[in-house]
Amino acid sequence: MRLSAYFMPTLKETPAEAEIVSHRLMLRAGMVRQASAGIYSWLPLGLRVLKKIERIVREEQDRAGAQEVLMPTIQSADLWRQSGRYDAYGPEMLRIADRHGRDMLYGPTNEELITEIFRTSVKSYRELPRMLYHIQWKFRDEVRPRFGVMRGREFLMKDNYSFDLDYEGAKKSYNKMFVSYLRTFARLGLQAVPMAADTGPIGGDLSHEFIILADTGESEVFCHRDFLDFDVLGAEVDYEADLEPVVQAWTRLYARTDDKHDPAVFEREVPADKRVQRRGIEVGHIFYFGTKYSEPLKAQVATPGGESVAVHMGSYGIGVSRLVGAVIEASHDKDGIIWPEAVAPFKVGLINLKIAAPDCNKAGEEIYAKLQEAGVEVLYDDRDERPGAKFAGMDLIGLPWQLVIGPRGLDKGVVELKRRAGGEREELSLEAALARLTG
Ligand code: ATP
Ligand code: MG
Repeated sequence: MRLSAYFMPTLKETPAEAEIVSHRLMLRAGMVRQASAGIYSWLPLGLRVLKKIERIVREEQDRAGAQEVLMPTIQSADLWRQSGRYDAYGPEMLRIADRHGRDMLYGPTNEELITEIFRTSVKSYRELPRMLYHIQWKFRDEVRPRFGVMRGREFLMKDNYSFDLDYEGAKKSYNKMFVSYLRTFARLGLQAVPMAADTGPIGGDLSHEFIILADTGESEVFCHRDFLDFDVLGAEVDYEADLEPVVQAWTRLYARTDDKHDPAVFEREVPADKRVQRRGIEVGHIFYFGTKYSEPLKAQVATPGGESVAVHMGSYGIGVSRLVGAVIEASHDKDGIIWPEAVAPFKVGLINLKIAAPDCNKAGEEIYAKLQEAGVEVLYDDRDERPGAKFAGMDLIGLPWQLVIGPRGLDKGVVELKRRAGGEREELSLEAALARLTG
């Protein structure tokens, strides 16, 4: 993509309404525009990141055996009346009436609808287990939408729902999602810590929030350093095998949020040199809720013995749009965003310092063409602009690599390659630079 033709309305000034760094940087980099409170339009640069996150989330859901569906954003109130949540949900639910006066709502979540789909389609234990997910916009009329896309009113969520015959089966599904979440966040380039969360009236221990570490996070995190050193992606996962030992190994290590934190327990269980106390952002939540919805909505299957029982369910959410902001909170510096390679909108920013000079122009066009041929996503700053503005702009949007072509380098037969994350710069031949970026 040529920057001269790219729709990326960056801002020079820091927007006054943005309280936190990710919101400021997303507005300044031209990733999103606020449409109304807590509701955003996604512009090309931001949408590329959102799509990349969505793709990784989807791949890891599929890998764990979940199947993708797509349910609507607008739902009928009837099912919610049956589950008892139409009144219980309160003012966070956006309620609408259609032209016939029928009560509708913009879905804040989908337990009722997926349970209804299941109820009318599955009748026997032979068709279990099942995991069905979708990636869809939700609406929650949050009291205080803030922090940009991190606490929006309209936001993109991946929500998965599992159906099993009994608790043992549900636990297996839960464990699959637990491991799948660890893999998902690791692939996004994030350090995620699973934290035991409240199970409410359901009880038991099958509820975890996944918190990624970021100094500006809303939650306080206490954990064992081994959490952070564990190489999730290095460990081969077989989703057909018994995952209980993997999950146990993780949950045995201490990890609590502030509301569950007991300093005495932390000090007793974790050696001093292994204690980590940080802040974090909730990006995912998994929990088992048994027959909470299958009972009232009558989602029953026949057991091998022929009796009819309500299925055991779990639900598993990931805040896809929140993650865009959360990644920035976890990875930025004073100059701008530092994208992990997996979610970067482009891999390389190609900076041409002197577009007007014929040799620079020729070299720029050549490199741009070669990178594209090799399938490398590249944003080419081919504008006639001051070098200072080009460098600052590239640092702001945070692409992992910057490749700089200038008249002085070209005379020596070299270009400059800068890694955004550490700031290291290296002069090397054009061929070597290309080999590095395409390798
Ligand atoms: P929170 O405590 O932050 O309000 P929640 O418990 O309401 O979260 P869930 O209902 O479990 O969240 O939703 C699953 C995921 O959706 C959350 O882990 C979070 O990543 C994301 N999410 C929830 N509310 C919002 C929001 N208002 N804006 C953006 N993402 C959200
Ligand atoms: Mg909430």
